[in-house]
Amino acid sequence: MTQPAKNGADMGERISLFVFIDAFGWELVKYYPFLDDILMVKAPMDTVFGYSSTCIPTILTGKMPREHGHFAFFTRANGDNTPFARYKLLARIPRAITRRGRVRARMSKILKPLHGITGYFQLYNMPFEHLHRFDYTEKHDLFQPGGINGGMPTIFDYLRINDIPAHIADWHLSETQNLAAARRALRNPRIRFAFVYLGAMDSILHNEGKFGDGVPNKIRWYGHEIRRLLDIARRHYREVRLFVFSDHGMTDTTDCCPLMQRIERLGLEFGRDYLAVYDSTMARFWFHTPDARHRITDALSAEPRGSILSPEQLARWGCDFPENHYGECFFLMNPGILLCPSFMGEKPLAAMHGYDPQHPDSTAAFMSNIPDTPRPHRLDNIFALMRDEADAISGATATEAAKSSQEVAP
Ligand SMILES: [Zn+2]
Repeated sequence: MTQPAKNGADMGERISLFVFIDAFGWELVKYYPFLDDILMVKAPMDTVFGYSSTCIPTILTGKMPREHGHFAFFTRANGDNTPFARYKLLARIPRAITRRGRVRARMSKILKPLHGITGYFQLYNMPFEHLHRFDYTEKHDLFQPGGINGGMPTIFDYLRINDIPAHIADWHLSETQNLAAARRALRNPRIRFAFVYLGAMDSILHNEGKFGDGVPNKIRWYGHEIRRLLDIARRHYREVRLFVFSDHGMTDTTDCCPLMQRIERLGLEFGRDYLAVYDSTMARFWFHTPDARHRITDALSAEPRGSILSPEQLARWGCDFPENHYGECFFLMNPGILLCPSFMGEKPLAAMHGYDPQHPDSTAAFMSNIPDTPRPHRLDNIFALMRDEADAISGATATEAAKSSQEVAP
């Protein structure tokens, strides 16, 4: 499997290094210099409709949202079959307390282990008095076996099943911790596949917008850190195949829309007449009475800065979920219009994602140092690329193993 290098250390034959950078969209990749001497391939890559909670499962499985079952974090509860079923009493805590960010962060930390949630968990700005009406959709760690709601294996399961020596980042850790772990892993020439997760630029973009000062600094830092990884990999492998990619872009906020307050003024009762989740860029509704359907869709139609998504549009985006799992009616804001306040936050953000996936600001990016690499056109194609790289590696491993067994045969 390994051959001695000139300096006496073992050299690996080849490594496929996948670096994921959250929210490093095509508009930023086009605008800022980034490893231009190394990344021969830089291309736009279509995202999928939704947030990172949709994008990451799509990258890891190669499936669209309707198949893997992940979309937004909160959905309608199926009766009492929700971790929040017993939280009706939370309604008695005054809103002045429960609206505080620090209280919510503390509560999220307490509730997560209490319900055996191993996935990413945040209560955001969900109304505590209605929490029992909702279910949480990322209960399991997506990187671990059984993490996908639809039950399909991820690329990490594929690596585990096929015994391909791999380094997989831990998304719980900071970027510096993950980069240090990757540098350690790349010194082991038996590792054939590495997946590095870098998630911090997303929040810089949310806070500062696309052209905030922190953005070029962060991109420069990523360039520096990836160059360090590459230097180590080149010392330990004959061929280093680098792939850098993102999940979505970012759209600067141009205006806020108080849609939630407008719906609340219609005189309908939340929970009895209808149910809604107000994400940052869309509102999702379930109607319990024809009157609620009528009045809410009328109110939505009167808002020019967004539109109700047709079933055909949702199907084209792979978001036609069985049994209206994520809502009977999706109202999507126009790019740049933030729902505020929403169930995701009280205060406006400088930028957001989760708009029309075809809008230029939504587009993700794909980059590589391999000029003839197949180019993934949409997020779900990344899976096939990772699997093919893993297959080529396991094929090479099998050939090398066969060769070395012949060499030792008498
Ligand atoms: Zn984000």
